[in-house]
Amino acid sequence: LKKIGVMTSGGDAPGMNAAVRAVVRACSYYEITPCAIYSGYQGLIDGKIEEMGPRSVANILSQGGTVLKSARCMEFRTEEGRRKAYEQFMAAGLGALIVIGGDGSFTGARLFQKEFGIPVVGIPGTIDNDIFGTDFTIGYDTALNTVVDAVDKIRDTASSHDRLFFIEVMGRDAGFIALNSGIATGVEQILIPEINKPVEQLIDRIRQSGRAGKGSSMIMVAEGDKSGSNIYQLADKVQEQLPEYDIKVTVLGHIQRGGRPSCSDRVLASRLGVAAVKSLKDGISGVMVGVRKGEVALTPLEEAIKQHNEIDPLLLEVAEITSI
Ligand code: ADP
Repeated sequence: LKKIGVMTSGGDAPGMNAAVRAVVRACSYYEITPCAIYSGYQGLIDGKIEEMGPRSVANILSQGGTVLKSARCMEFRTEEGRRKAYEQFMAAGLGALIVIGGDGSFTGARLFQKEFGIPVVGIPGTIDNDIFGTDFTIGYDTALNTVVDAVDKIRDTASSHDRLFFIEVMGRDAGFIALNSGIATGVEQILIPEINKPVEQLIDRIRQSGRAGKGSSMIMVAEGDKSGSNIYQLADKVQEQLPEYDIKVTVLGHIQRGGRPSCSDRVLASRLGVAAVKSLKDGISGVMVGVRKGEVALTPLEEAIKQHNEIDPLLLEVAEITSI
């Protein structure tokens, strides 16, 4: 194995740079030439490939976003697109590919390996923490801290005016960000896609909170939650039933994707970047590197794509108990 290509793909996440740096440095350490592939699969198709060295990743460890750029690429979903990518891949003399991204990116990587026999390894980079085979994805911890910071600020204004706040956080079809940041900020209710909470029940709980002496309340809503068709309509429904409340909606949006990666994300990204290179060096591919119960663990890409992490019922209980 002489040359490894590395790319970031799909949704960006803080800590992706730390993973790129670790991959590049681990390659150099093991005397393999690292190559940057810019803009995900689109860049591979377009041949945007550049040799790197340990100094080319100086000072990116602490930067949010991804210096390699990320992209969504429709063409790679077609066999013809993947063939073009393969041709560029071979022309650059690459022997293996490391993809930092989410399950969409891993689906593409798996097809690339299946169709052309290219060894691939995935590194989970997404704020959503929705990837099977790792307890944490790169970017999740930073996003949680960003959400906690923002919601603490909303709490200040909510309690000053006895308001009811609906706050939408990211997470795609998963409720990890909402549940964990909700517990950390002490919100009154948490709505996640994994649990279907009827609006009537939500309204009852808000009334209960009022009777229990709470002047203001915050409801954390995961973007994938199905209680309303969107958070504004949900807030409208609740407003109809609870006209006495001054209801406000805040959608945190893309601030959750940005910012300097937290210490945990930098360490996770560094561990996984090194593990990905080691895996390829040892002849193991078609896997995702992750951390399970504190240890680096390899999961076949197929499983990482098909399966889903479950919400911990004990965490739901903690949220319930601590918000009375
Ligand atoms: P994420 O990796 O964050 O889940 P996406 O789902 O957008 O993000 O996937 C990133 C890229 O991976 C897509 O733009 C596409 O190029 C590639 N990809 C996703 N799904 C497939 C698929 N079924 N077949 C081939 N390539 C895919």
